Amino acid sequence: MLQDIEWELRYTSDLIGRRTLSPRTLDALRSVPRHKFVPDHLRDHAYDNCPLEISKGQTISQPYIVAVMTELLELDPEDVVLEVGTGSGYQAAVLSRLVKQVYTIEIIPDLGQRAADLLEALGYDNVTVRIGDGHQGWPEHAPYDAIIVTAAASRIPPALLEQLATGGRMIIPVGPPYHTQELVLVEKMAGGEIRKRHVLPVAFVPMTGEEAALAVDE
Ligand code: SAH
Repeated sequence: MLQDIEWELRYTSDLIGRRTLSPRTLDALRSVPRHKFVPDHLRDHAYDNCPLEISKGQTISQPYIVAVMTELLELDPEDVVLEVGTGSGYQAAVLSRLVKQVYTIEIIPDLGQRAADLLEALGYDNVTVRIGDGHQGWPEHAPYDAIIVTAAASRIPPALLEQLATGGRMIIPVGPPYHTQELVLVEKMAGGEIRKRHVLPVAFVPMTGEEAALAVDE
């Protein structure tokens, strides 16, 4: 899996701005047993470099995308991170190896509960899962040194921008549902200036909840 990721990264390095992964990201990817996060019948494919269906029409992202999103957050051991879209819990587990604390929000109760149980069983005790709509973030633990959104948003949710620390980074797929989106890297500079960089085209399942409901009403 790591070889495939490195190969694909070399191929796309102009877009990502990196030729290789940092040793910390590599170690984190190496240490998390991805096969525990995929359904039994897909175990043989757990380490293939492709996305896999988890359940309820949701997917666990392709390892290369997990690697790129993780790498671009430039995480430090003391960081507190917010993830929107817990899904299987795999991305949260990878992040947990790199930072002090991960808060992660999942809108489908069943998935969130399953991920929370699995993360606990595997001993990832610096991950806290909450069932809810990530559009509002998780204000109680803000500001976050990094925010990662793993479902496609039609626009960057304002609450997430607010909850990003100064000097913090957010990585988020932005674009219409069921189309290709752009993976966007957002930086909040000293003084509050927001800088955005389009990284590469991606295809994520859509964010549901409040904003999706608004879009239907409009
Ligand atoms: N990071 C996950 C993959 C995420 S798939 C992993 O490593 O497995 C996207 C997830 O986002 C799905 O589980 C979906 O239910 C969830 N989601 C969609 N809209 C959401 C919202 N508004 N708030 C929180 N989670 C949301």
